[in-house]
Amino acid sequence: MRNGVVFILLRGRRPPLVAGLAVTFVLVSICTALVYPLKQLTTVSSLGVVYLLGVVVISTFWGLWLGVLMSVLSAAAFNFFHLPPVGRFTIADSRNWVALGAFLVVALASSSVSELARARAAEAVRRRAEADLTAETAQLLLERAGVEDALASIGRRLAAAFELPWALVALGETSGDSRREALALSAGEARVGTLVVPAGLQGSVVSRLSERVVPALAALLQVALERERLVAEAVQTESLRRSDAVKTAVLRAVSHDLRSPVTAMITAGAAVRAPGVTPHERDELGGLVVEEGTRLSRLIDDLLDLSKLDAHAAVPRLAECSVEEVIDAALAAQPADSMVEVRVDPDLPPVRADFAQVERALANLLENATRYSEGKLVVVRARSVGGWVVIRVVDRGPGIPAVDQARIFEPFYRAPGRTPNVISGSGLGLAIAKGFIETNGGRIRVESVPGQGSSFVVALPAIVEPEP
Ligand code: ADP
Repeated sequence: MRNGVVFILLRGRRPPLVAGLAVTFVLVSICTALVYPLKQLTTVSSLGVVYLLGVVVISTFWGLWLGVLMSVLSAAAFNFFHLPPVGRFTIADSRNWVALGAFLVVALASSSVSELARARAAEAVRRRAEADLTAETAQLLLERAGVEDALASIGRRLAAAFELPWALVALGETSGDSRREALALSAGEARVGTLVVPAGLQGSVVSRLSERVVPALAALLQVALERERLVAEAVQTESLRRSDAVKTAVLRAVSHDLRSPVTAMITAGAAVRAPGVTPHERDELGGLVVEEGTRLSRLIDDLLDLSKLDAHAAVPRLAECSVEEVIDAALAAQPADSMVEVRVDPDLPPVRADFAQVERALANLLENATRYSEGKLVVVRARSVGGWVVIRVVDRGPGIPAVDQARIFEPFYRAPGRTPNVISGSGLGLAIAKGFIETNGGRIRVESVPGQGSSFVVALPAIVEPEP
C-alpha cells in the first residue's frame, strides 16, 4: 500500500488539468459537507482543518496553482457555508484569513515536496535508462561478430532512449553540419568514432549525451574494435596453420598416388627390355604401361582441376545446356559394359551452366556408381522441381555409412572399403564434382542407406521461360 502511494506520488507526469479541476470542486464539496456533522462535536473555527486534506491532495498531484485555487475555494466555502453569519461572505472575519493563509502554506509545502519527489523519480528513471542503454550497447558490441553490424542497432537504441528522431554511431571521424551535430568518441588519445545526432537539440539533452553516454560508448567501442582485431588475427593464424596442414596432407597423398603408377611403369619398362621376352609378354607389359600412364594422366588432371577450383580459377563458361545432352556426354565417357538406365522428364527445362564442367561432375558420379554397385543397374533420373533441374544418380551398391557421408566430398577422403573387389580411386572424384557443381550455381548432396545403395543428388538452376 505504502509503495503504491509512493509510486503514484513519484510518477513522472502530472494527471490532466481538467481532472484536477473536477477533483478540486468535488473535494471542496465533500469537505464542506463533512463539516456539517462535525459541527455537533466541536467549534466551527477549528473545523477549517477538514479542508486541509483536500488542499494537500490537490497540490501534491496537480502542483502549486491548482493548490492555490483549492485553498481559495476552500476558504470561500468555509466562510460562506459555515462561518457565521452563514450564507454570506464576511471578508472582514479574521478566521477566514487565518484559514486561507494556512491552506496556502500547506499548498506551497506539499506541491514543493511532490515536485522534488517527481524530479528525483524522473532522474532515477533517466539514470536507469542510461544504465540499460550502456548494458545493451555492451551486449550488442561484444556479442556480435562485426562491430560495424552492431552500430546501426546501437544508433536506433540510443535514439529511442533519448527520444531523438535518429542517432548514428560511425567509426572514425565524421564532421557535423547545419543539420547534424557530431560528438567525438575518444578513448584516451585515440579517436574511435563519432556519435552523430540531429542539430538543435536541447542543451540538457546534449550535455546528458556528452557526459553520460559518450564516455561509456567510446570505451566500449574501443574494447570491441580491439577484440575484433584480435579475433581477425587469430583466424588468420589458424587458417594459415590449417592450410599448411592441408598442404602437407595433400603432398603425402599425392606422392603416394603418383609413385605407384610411376613405379609400375618403370618396372614394366625394365621388364620389356629383358632378354627372352615373348611378343605376348611384351604386349601385356605395353598394355600395363598405357594403363598406368592413363591413370597417372587422370590423376594429374584431377589435381589441376582441384587446384583451379581451390583458387576459384575454374570460371564456368555459362551457356544454355540441355540436361539430357550433358547426361549422354557423361555416359559416353563410361566403359561400354556399364549398366546405366536414363530417365529424363519430357518437358525438362534447359540449365545455364558450363557443359564440360557439369559433364565432368556427372561422369565422376556415374563412374563411382557403376564401380561400387558391381554390375547392378544404375539409374540416372532428371526432373524439374520448382526452378531447379534435379538429377539423381542412383545405385544399388553397398551404400555409405552416415559418418562417411559428411566427409566423402572432402579431397582425398576415401571411406574405408566395404567392397573388397573395388579398388578405390584417389579420393578426388567427389571433391571435383562438388566443386564444379557449386561453381555453376548448383548443389550436390548424397542420400544413402548402408546395404541398400546410394543416391547422389545434383540440383542446377533451370532456365525458366517467362510466361507469355
Ligand atoms: P574415389 O576415387 O575414392 O572413389 P571419390 O571422391 O569419388 O573418390 O569418393 C570418395 C569415397 O566415397 C570413396 O572412397 C567411396 O568410399 C565413397 N563413395 C563414392 N561414391 C560411392 C558410391 N556410389 N557408393 C558407395 N561409396 C561411394
